[in-house]
Amino acid sequence: MSSSFPLSKAQLDDLISKFPTPFYLYDEKAIRENMQKFTKAFSIFPVFREHFAVKACPNPYILKILAQEGCGADCSSLPELILSKKSGILGKKVIFTSNETPAEEYKYAYENGNIINLDDFTHIDYLKKAIGKLPDTICFRYNPGNDKQGCNSIIGKPEEAKYGLTREQIIQAYKICKEEGVKHFGLHTMVASNELNPDFFIDTAKLLFELCAEIKEKTGVRIEFVDLGGGLGIPYRPEQKAVDYDYVAKGIKNEYDKILIPANLDPMEIYWECGRPITGPYGWLITTAIHEKHIYREYIAVDSCMADLMRPGMYGAYHEITVSGKENEPKTQVYDVVGSLCENCDKFAVQRSLPKIEMGDHIIIHDAGAHGRAMGFNYNGKLRCGEILMRQDGSFKQIRRRETIDDLFATLDLDGVENFN
Ligand SMILES: *Cc1c(COP(=O)(O)O)cnc(C)c1O
Repeated sequence: MSSSFPLSKAQLDDLISKFPTPFYLYDEKAIRENMQKFTKAFSIFPVFREHFAVKACPNPYILKILAQEGCGADCSSLPELILSKKSGILGKKVIFTSNETPAEEYKYAYENGNIINLDDFTHIDYLKKAIGKLPDTICFRYNPGNDKQGCNSIIGKPEEAKYGLTREQIIQAYKICKEEGVKHFGLHTMVASNELNPDFFIDTAKLLFELCAEIKEKTGVRIEFVDLGGGLGIPYRPEQKAVDYDYVAKGIKNEYDKILIPANLDPMEIYWECGRPITGPYGWLITTAIHEKHIYREYIAVDSCMADLMRPGMYGAYHEITVSGKENEPKTQVYDVVGSLCENCDKFAVQRSLPKIEMGDHIIIHDAGAHGRAMGFNYNGKLRCGEILMRQDGSFKQIRRRETIDDLFATLDLDGVENFN
């Protein structure tokens, strides 16, 4: 577990008396402090910027906090582009790292001066048709295929991944874009998800820096920024260790000095597009135990379900669970902690050792601040929960209300169906 829950039992009880469970809680102070630590580590580069992956926590209040800490945004759909703009993240501070992108989304990104990161060779022509010409700045997503080993199972082996251009294609792509008059170039890759090994990212940077040198040699194109993607992991399990930002930054700087300076590619702007480590540890799903069941196993059912937090059900992902006020009690019970969906995978924890839980106890699911509420869905008529931000002064602000039945039915024509025979 990577971050301790900030509220005592009395404070949480008080909050729940105003905002009934389930809801997400985010800690503004912890988000800011972590972002400052991240930025400080990477300030050893001439230019550095984190573009927060909007998909991880698509709430404009969170985006605004991150923008104030100097972040840009990484988007992959039109709604994410609009959300970033509404949050005050503008122009080149937005990278559009999409794939299989419709023309009108490229058009919006272009019209707003966002950096377009192309996912395929054929998208050069597609983009040209979509907006009438090529933009001044273009980035390409590189798929290293067999050149990158040791990738973890979530994102899979690069040669089996749908993303990016091959090495031969990408060199050709820069050549063509230069001939077509494109002036500024970036290079991007993303080959990891929730990776905790810091050396993995140093190795990825080395691969990209070497490619920059090769591109310059073969095409004369000078890459101006390298986008290292996302994929920095967080320690979901108590025994895991957080990635040391300073170690990663220094390791990458070492490769920068060895490869980019001799290739005359300094200064090179260094970008990240992380989501998970930026908000993940600083968000919690707060629920209440409403049923207990004693069959072949002991079950505790909470007033939420995987429609609010899909990761455990979908990937078997581990999320630490604590019981408010019982943090230091001995873990004498073994429970499956479950939600109300009609799917047996709807379990927040399986065979987990926990203190004895009474009905009405508040159950805190940790590390839910990224890819949590964002991955929610409405299957089984489930209404997704709201989001609360704990401000730096300890006050609370609802930054998203809970869904209503009217929200769920908004796309249906319930009056029309009465006259439908
Ligand atoms: C999902 C994604 C990210 C963010 O990944 P995290 O694991 O949340 O850091 C960044 N870039 C792209 C292209 C992505 O698809």
